[in-house]
Amino acid sequence: MAKKSNSSELKVSKIKEGTVIDHVDAGMALIVLEMLGITGREGTVATLSMNVVSKKTGRKDIVKIENRFLEYTEINQIALISPNATINEIKNFTVVKKFDVQLPEVIVGFPKCINPRCITNAREPQVQTYYVKSVDPLKIRCKYCNTNMDKNDVVKQLTKYSGITK
Ligand SMILES: [Zn+2]
Repeated sequence: MAKKSNSSELKVSKIKEGTVIDHVDAGMALIVLEMLGITGREGTVATLSMNVVSKKTGRKDIVKIENRFLEYTEINQIALISPNATINEIKNFTVVKKFDVQLPEVIVGFPKCINPRCITNAREPQVQTYYVKSVDPLKIRCKYCNTNMDKNDVVKQLTKYSGITK
């Protein structure tokens, strides 16, 4: 019964329905789950592989999430911290859609600006808007206060949001 298949097929074919995020930057798998609001408490079945050897990037993480497909904004969030990530949508054990994440030139509504005086952090806030200056390494600039943020700043804002890191 054993059928030969190449290793990438093997990796993505294990879930019946859902999303496999491949080529996640090594060490970012948990942050990706956090961004997607997946804690495990809601019952989501997710599998993480961390620091897997990759031909493309040396080391990578892989995140598999069952019965969950990603929204456009979620894909952009992943692109912020893992610009080389590939999204695979799986239906009935088959990859029905595969594409690389791509950051738009302008990001809206995410993440929180690190400048506490920024108008996006005011009581009646403007919606966060950033210009993408560089993808890898990440550099985004707030439209309202011109504050630059890098990948660490984004990750820090995220972990603050969900309260996992105190
Ligand atoms: Zn700002």
